[in-house]
Amino acid sequence: MDKITLGVYKSFKNSGNRNHREKTKKQWCHYFLDLEDQSFHTEWISKFKALILKRNVFKKRKFICPECGLIFEGLVRKDSDSVECPECED
Ligand SMILES: [Zn+2]
Repeated sequence: MDKITLGVYKSFKNSGNRNHREKTKKQWCHYFLDLEDQSFHTEWISKFKALILKRNVFKKRKFICPECGLIFEGLVRKDSDSVECPECED
């Protein structure tokens, strides 16, 4: 299964629970896009996995195609990465 990591953040596992327990700990949460059905998911992960995934977080960036001038959004890992134009790629 192909996943694109969109975010790794800490949140309370029992958020939304009215009876807030003092011992409630924050846990790492992985927010990702499943490429198979283009759906978003979240999963609870370990601190160790969070460290690995944090290096692979994708960011949404806007691109302008120099060929056709189309403005489109793409997910990239680094600012220096580029995404192919959906109109011009064969
Ligand atoms: Zn183009």
